[in-house]
Order: sequence, then C-alpha cells, then structure tokens
Amino acid sequence: MSSNRPLKIVWIYPDLLSTYGDQGNTIVLERRAALRGIPYETVNVRSDQPVPPDGDIFLLGGGEDRPQILAAQRLRRDGGLAEAAQRGAVVFAVCAGYQLLGHQFGGEEGQPVQGLGLLDISSGRGEQRAVGEIVGDVSAELNVPRITGFENHQGVTRIGPGAKPLAKVVAGVGNGDGQGFEGAYSGRVLGTYMHGPALVRNPGLADLLLTWAVGQQLQPIDDSWAGRLREERLAAVLS
Ligand code: GLN
Repeated sequence: MSSNRPLKIVWIYPDLLSTYGDQGNTIVLERRAALRGIPYETVNVRSDQPVPPDGDIFLLGGGEDRPQILAAQRLRRDGGLAEAAQRGAVVFAVCAGYQLLGHQFGGEEGQPVQGLGLLDISSGRGEQRAVGEIVGDVSAELNVPRITGFENHQGVTRIGPGAKPLAKVVAGVGNGDGQGFEGAYSGRVLGTYMHGPALVRNPGLADLLLTWAVGQQLQPIDDSWAGRLREERLAAVLS
C-alpha cells in the first residue's frame, strides 16, 4: 500500500460472484481498518468494468457454475487482477472465486474451464456436493486461530507444489482432495471454501490480509462479539 493514499479495497464482480453474503468480507475489512484509523476506499467492480490494477486488497466471492465461468473469462481478458497479484497485492477469494484463481476448474457439465493461474491449484467436479459447516486448523506460519465457515460446493481442489494448504480440515470437507486440506495460499494470494462470511467468523484472517496490505503489525481490537459467534459455531460443529 502506498502511504499517501487510502487502502484500496476492491470487490470483484458483485453481479456474478456474491453468494452467501460473501460481500460481508468487504464490510469487515472496512470496519477493522477504520477501528485502527487506517483510511480506506472501497471500489465495487462490476463484470463490465475494468479491474483497477492499483488496488491493495481484492476480494472475490462464491458463485453458481455459469457466472463463475463468465467471471473467469472476463477476468482473464481484463488482466487487471493478474497485474495486481504480480505486483504483490492481496487477493482473498472464496469458493467459486478460489477455484477460478487456479489453472482450471470444472464447469457446469464438469468440463475443464481455464482459470487465471494466479494460484497453483486445479479443481474439478467431485462425486458429491460438500454442504455444511467446516472447521480447519490454519497453517502455523500464518498465525491465525482455527477457522470456521460454511461450505457449499461440488468442486474438488488439488494443490500443486507452488501453493500451500491454508488449513487442515477438522470438520467438513474443504478441498476434498483426499488429503484433508482446506483452501490454499501462495504469497499474498489466498483462497478458501469458507463462506460465512469468512472474515466475519474469522477476524484473525481479516487481520492477516490487512497486515499484508499495510505492511505492519496492527493494533489489537476488542473482538468479544466475534469471539462469541466463533464459540457458538465451533461448539455447534465440534460437540
Ligand atoms: N460452482 C462452484 C462449485 O460448485 C462454486 C460454488 C460456490 O461458490 N458456492 O464448486
């Protein structure tokens, strides 16, 4: 983030990728930035608009199969997200958004559809839909507490050598790759199957993205309400 302008949060394709309230991830980043006195601006980029390559944090949500294919085609043609990611911008993507960051994903008939290749993952269609609560223990190097969310996807995702698993599944399916992994990340590009919205349920993950974007440690904030939500969801799933 350049120091003389507000943190630029970019919500990609609200018209195509916005299932399960994933746009709430934007609100959480705004709120947690504001509580730290970090100036920010949010840009909603519809699928007929160019993606601004000078964003600091790009957010993508889940989507149905066909909007997901359309989103992948338009993002590939546009090139702005790839340019930003190569420059080191933060990208946080959920479910359909996560899959389309990879090399390929399964279309509505299971056909391979080309992704953006920003994350070394490949997805296809699984035998069964994974639907329900999911809990995972995050890769130790990220220093984020146990994550909780809701998943609903047919896709199965394999992680290649250029990316690492975000978490080890404690409950639920996640990537469904037979290795018990959930999500993936490489550099500052991070994807997950967790809706919820993910950053509402996991303030630690929100702060990881903000820390990457601002390049410094953040002041702690009172998370007692988020803590109650987390306790409730974790108890419901793990008891
Ligand atoms: N269409 C994708 C799948 O079923 C993504 C679904 C979603 O984003 N919820 O795997």
